[in-house]
Amino acid sequence: MKVTLLVWGLLFLPDSVQSFLSPGVHRAAAMNLPGKTRLTSTSSGAIQPVRRSLQASSSVVKKPASRLMVNLLTATSTFGASSIIKSLPILGTLVVAGLLAARLPGVIARGWRSYNKEENSVGREYDAWTREKILEHYWGEHIHLGYYTEEDQKAGYLKKNFIGAKYDFIDRMMAFAKLDGQTFKPAKVLDVGCGIGGTTRYIAKKLGTTSQVSGITLSQEQVRRAKELAEEQDVTNAEFQVMDALHMSYPDNSFDLVWACESGEHMPDKKAYVEEMVRVLKPGGTLVIACWCQRDAKAFPLSRSEQKRVDFMCTEWSHPYFISIQDFERLALGTGVMENVRTEDWAKFTLPSWRHSVWVGVFDPFFWMLRPHLWVKILRDAFTLNVFHNAFKDGLMGYGMIYAQKKK
Ligand code: SAH
Repeated sequence: MKVTLLVWGLLFLPDSVQSFLSPGVHRAAAMNLPGKTRLTSTSSGAIQPVRRSLQASSSVVKKPASRLMVNLLTATSTFGASSIIKSLPILGTLVVAGLLAARLPGVIARGWRSYNKEENSVGREYDAWTREKILEHYWGEHIHLGYYTEEDQKAGYLKKNFIGAKYDFIDRMMAFAKLDGQTFKPAKVLDVGCGIGGTTRYIAKKLGTTSQVSGITLSQEQVRRAKELAEEQDVTNAEFQVMDALHMSYPDNSFDLVWACESGEHMPDKKAYVEEMVRVLKPGGTLVIACWCQRDAKAFPLSRSEQKRVDFMCTEWSHPYFISIQDFERLALGTGVMENVRTEDWAKFTLPSWRHSVWVGVFDPFFWMLRPHLWVKILRDAFTLNVFHNAFKDGLMGYGMIYAQKKK
């Protein structure tokens, strides 16, 4: 205990405390006298230098390395050399911990889960998420952001039910797609990048059994879980399969509605993504996309630090690259067969989701605490969620909503 205190004192104690421990040195420094000059009071109260053993001036003492040296010598005289020697292992540990901590930002700043098509990094990551069950525990059946109205945000977003916000999002997206179940009641729906099928089943239930909803994903585990949940919930008009959205096996003109919620982020070719969805859409059908987008860099190119943040957001969660909302609009129009294209940015309505995701883990910690093998991943995800929060808050990222209809 004594030794620990000594080490902390050496490294971190403020000057005032150290001057209390060894007043002479600090007052010498204050008087511009050589650093290790002991001062003593004469009977008349005058202060005199009595020993000069170190040639250090007060300006040098201010430098951290010199200060450490002075502190070391001070401690030697205060605690004795044997205490110092005893404290060396702890001192060493602190130095190593300090060096590791200094390297940490660099290590964190490089994403660990970058996109790799050959290794199916997307499918692999979602397989892991699904097996770990942690995402389902906290996020429920929906792997997308929630919707928070201005009133919700004024009242405090933490008052809103985290999973309920995701259902609100889907309701809003359905309204955005004009999917009210009466005027527009698609018989065939495709959910591109369906996760564990939360939205697929939700739409299937809303539309009823006269409609058939298909969900595709790259993750075998997600398909397994999606089917399991459909059976549990007795949803008979939803089906799931592993299929690449860029090479779908559906014939042209198959669906009345193509729905893509937060899957575009993972696509290595956004043009092919839009074109393939348009291909399988029936004439007169609706395409609706929700996707994290970066700001339009055409007018103002990204700065180096912005690019670094985007790189991190890509490499951490297996996103090859992002495009802007305007790019999506251009891609939809570029197909030559889409009309009534409409876009919105829902960044401000979805923003609380990022931090809310962290808070649900704080309020309900036992699920992750009991899984120590996931702690590093969870910590990284909490950090990443905050990086995304900042990017959506300061406009580097936008939440793209894209609506378009295929010409008849
Ligand atoms: N839309 C879902 C989940 C979004 S998570 C929901 O509302 O809950 C992203 C999903 O996109 C994952 O299921 C992932 O497997 C899928 N995905 C990513 N790239 C894909 C691709 N090339 N083909 C098919 N699905 C893909």
